[in-house]
Amino acid sequence: MSGNFNGKVAIVTGGGSGIGLATAKAFAEQGAKVVIAEISAKNGEEAAKTINAAGGSAIFVHTDVSKADSVANLVAQAVAAYGRLDIAVNNAGIDPEVAPDANWDEAVFDRIQGVNLKGVFLCMKYEIAQFLKQGNGGRIVNVASIAGLSAVYNKPAYTASKHGVVGMTKAAALQYARRGIRINAMCPGGVDTPISDQNHKGDQAFIDRMADAHPIGYVSQPSEIAAGILFQCSDGASFMIGHPMVLDGGLIAG
Ligand code: NAD
Repeated sequence: MSGNFNGKVAIVTGGGSGIGLATAKAFAEQGAKVVIAEISAKNGEEAAKTINAAGGSAIFVHTDVSKADSVANLVAQAVAAYGRLDIAVNNAGIDPEVAPDANWDEAVFDRIQGVNLKGVFLCMKYEIAQFLKQGNGGRIVNVASIAGLSAVYNKPAYTASKHGVVGMTKAAALQYARRGIRINAMCPGGVDTPISDQNHKGDQAFIDRMADAHPIGYVSQPSEIAAGILFQCSDGASFMIGHPMVLDGGLIAG
């Protein structure tokens, strides 16, 4: 396969499902070699198999983004397989159900921050170290959410984690802007993925309300978010630094 990302090496965390899978496939279709980092071995292996069967190039590296040694291994495996690293999409995230009112569970709070916030921190740490070693820049997109810019009702821990991702993205972006490393965030509105299924549990009235809340009248498909992420990693976005790009069908425009 060939395209705008010919020969580039891209890590996609959470690449076995939803937005990550769509992004991994889109990079492969544009000629990139893709490293699927997943905690679900089943989904990760399947994603790599699908991309390779379609004529692309992908490997799966079993990864827990909340653990430093696991993320260090991910970057080492990517370099061992493909010789370098050019792009990283730090997308793995969780949005577990939370108890109503103030009956919040401390362990759930820690788990959300561990994956959504510390996970992105650890990924950037090892990815940037590799970029600096190579000495010719790099591109990072951290997948936050509109919850990184405005609050989601009854989801204080998730909202905090995503605000943290946006803040951390800006801080890191400033630090590395003059070394050719462009770091940005992606802030999707509702996306039709297994995380959303977990929230609506097939309740059609809930699904319809979600779609209706978006001025465009539907929640996005993962491929629509992947298209934005690829743009952020492309040469066309050369002047984009520390930007939380919103793709939400107009949800927070009003
Ligand atoms: P998804 O559940 O389809 O995909 C998330 C993937 O991350 C899964 O494959 C999961 O196995 C993986 N993962 C979870 N914990 C991990 C860990 N510790 N280490 C490695 N991999 C891990 O969900 P999605 O909707 O594609 O979510 C992707 C990202 O987009 C998340 O960060 C999510 O918060 C964000 N997001 C989603 C929506 C939405 O409506 N779906 C909206 C805004 C932002």
